[in-house]
Amino acid sequence: MDWRTKLLNPAPRARRDYKSLATPVYRGSTVVFDNQGAVSDDWQQAENGYTYGLYGTPTTLELAARIADLENARHTFIVPGGQAAIALVYLAFCKAGSHALIPVSAYGPNREMADGLLRGFGVTVEPYDPLIGGGIRDLIKDNTTLIWCESPGSVTMEVQDIPTIVEAAHESGVAVALDNTYAAGVLFDAFAHGVDVSMQALTKYVGGHSDILLGSVSVRDEAAYQTLGPIYRQLGLAVSPDDCSLALRGLQTLAVRLDQLEKSTLTVANWLAEHPSIETVFHPALASCPGHDSWKRDFTGSASVFSFMFKDDVSPAQVEAIINSLKIFRIGLSWGGVTSLAVVYPDLDRPGKDYGGRLVRLNVGLEQESDLIGDLQDAITDVLDQTGAN
Ligand SMILES: *Cc1c(COP(=O)(O)O)cnc(C)c1O
Repeated sequence: MDWRTKLLNPAPRARRDYKSLATPVYRGSTVVFDNQGAVSDDWQQAENGYTYGLYGTPTTLELAARIADLENARHTFIVPGGQAAIALVYLAFCKAGSHALIPVSAYGPNREMADGLLRGFGVTVEPYDPLIGGGIRDLIKDNTTLIWCESPGSVTMEVQDIPTIVEAAHESGVAVALDNTYAAGVLFDAFAHGVDVSMQALTKYVGGHSDILLGSVSVRDEAAYQTLGPIYRQLGLAVSPDDCSLALRGLQTLAVRLDQLEKSTLTVANWLAEHPSIETVFHPALASCPGHDSWKRDFTGSASVFSFMFKDDVSPAQVEAIINSLKIFRIGLSWGGVTSLAVVYPDLDRPGKDYGGRLVRLNVGLEQESDLIGDLQDAITDVLDQTGAN
């Protein structure tokens, strides 16, 4: 063999029996077949063997299997982000002429897709009150094919009565999809509560360190698996095996991170609830959170993200100044990482509700609780003393 050919000979030279604790990062687009008769292009690689890197390498399928195991799912699809997971669910369960329902408190870009891409494809997505419960029956039409739930909702944190919504949906043969990102797929057991499709932004708690973007779509039964699979294939939602290996590493510390984050977050939330300048704290484990009773009944814990609203003698400009004065909390979107974050939501679209530019969302990280409370205390005191409110 010429040395040029040797360079391209992929036959392994090193031993392949390395028994590491870490899942190897398998890169690869092409899969080599033993003979022409074995060539196929099949997305169902977990059952039928590897055919093409687009449907995942062993690293991706290892992550998929571990998420499926955690959520008690039949199968999990790994996709490039939470938003891609949302798109996959819509495109698998809706077609031109379909009607879908989405809580007004759903993740903003989910609602944006409903009003943009899907409307253009002839799919009508109707917003509903997240606390509607059994009232959802009245919104289900002959052409309803999908009901979204997200619990707690983004930013305003309403906890939904999932079993009641599922019951109404299933009476009419409608599929229920849940954005289960807050629960990291573990604090709320989606399938035990009857949900058909559970998706997560793995970007948040599974990744856990603000350095990857990944999503998952998990299904309980074979029919949903067969509905999603071909659309997953057609959309070409491939992910990087490097990112999957970081998510696999994140899984190893998910339990300790969630335990610590729950404790610190409750400490900060309870401190805010007692603060004279704070009107309400929207944390699922506090009675002041809409849908708190559903949380108590259905969840096994709470996470690191919650919101609170200043009293109306604090102006929106002061709220902004307070957030700008924070030294440990950084200003940023997304959550579930190790760093505490704060962000103001000045113009939320919540029909019948006006948060008056005084709603702030926090993500509590792994910093010392007393430092976080000190940071909030100093920022609030400095701004309100200077500008003379209270
Ligand atoms: C962040 C988030 C998403 C989107 O996830 P990306 O990975 O950022 O695309 C979807 N749903 C919820 C509830 C989220 O918080």
